[in-house]
Amino acid sequence: THFGFETIDESQKESKVAGVFSSVASSYDTMNDLMSLGIHRLWKDHFVRGLNPGGHTPGAPQQGWHILDIAGGSGDIAFRMLDHATNINHDRNTHVTISDINPDMLAEGRKRAAQSPYARTGRLDFIEANAENLHMIPDDSIDLYTVSFGIRNFTHKDMALREAYRVLKPGGVFACLEFSKVRNPLFDFVYKRWSFAAIPLIGQVVAGDRDSYQYLVESIDRFPSQTEWRDMIKDAGFLIPGAQDGKGWEDLTDGIAAVHKGVKP
Ligand code: SAM
Repeated sequence: THFGFETIDESQKESKVAGVFSSVASSYDTMNDLMSLGIHRLWKDHFVRGLNPGGHTPGAPQQGWHILDIAGGSGDIAFRMLDHATNINHDRNTHVTISDINPDMLAEGRKRAAQSPYARTGRLDFIEANAENLHMIPDDSIDLYTVSFGIRNFTHKDMALREAYRVLKPGGVFACLEFSKVRNPLFDFVYKRWSFAAIPLIGQVVAGDRDSYQYLVESIDRFPSQTEWRDMIKDAGFLIPGAQDGKGWEDLTDGIAAVHKGVKP
């Protein structure tokens, strides 16, 4: 049996999600590699390169960005941001706050931080928070808000978007990397067969946890399409770069994942 997420009401979602991520925390990185055949690393590299932290981006400070990585989990995006700022843009002042609702995922991130070049540099910190309520973060204080493979788990995505808008400085960027809808119908068929059959099985064999991985596959299927998600970001008040050509997002691997961005006016 699995969680039957189709039938649970929204009030239960948060505690179910908490259970899933506590259960997968220690195997999370290995499982990501197995399930995506390593491709999630390429998507994350591409996502970070496109944001160019610490670089010459119109509207952003030249160096010393304050980045908020929401649902930052084990730090996959945060470390890439700091590496990019440091190694590509020679910026040692950019700072990342990793925020996650789950203490077990944060513990994995802290473990990795302690072994990274950023330990004791003051360039990385952690907060435990629900993305729907970031009251500890002041208005207009963040240059870049990132959320990677996190937002589909939020109960109230509109509230998270509102908080993102509030904490960003004018000109600040909201950037989301998330699973999306595959464009090619044949590829979509193969991909759905793979994900619905293989991912829960890999979860069972490798992590001893079929239910959590069943949930992950279902949550991907239920997340809005590229267009719907872009419109939700727009409705929260963001300007959508590239929206004038009818798009306003970037598909990765034929839409298995997509990057959406919004700029706070
Ligand atoms: N960003 C990382 C990455 O790209 O590998 C981790 C993604 S992981 C699939 C999803 C994360 O979202 C988990 O760490 C989970 O605890 C977090 N999460 C789920 N619901 C949340 C919420 N309402 N607020 C903040 N974080 C949440």
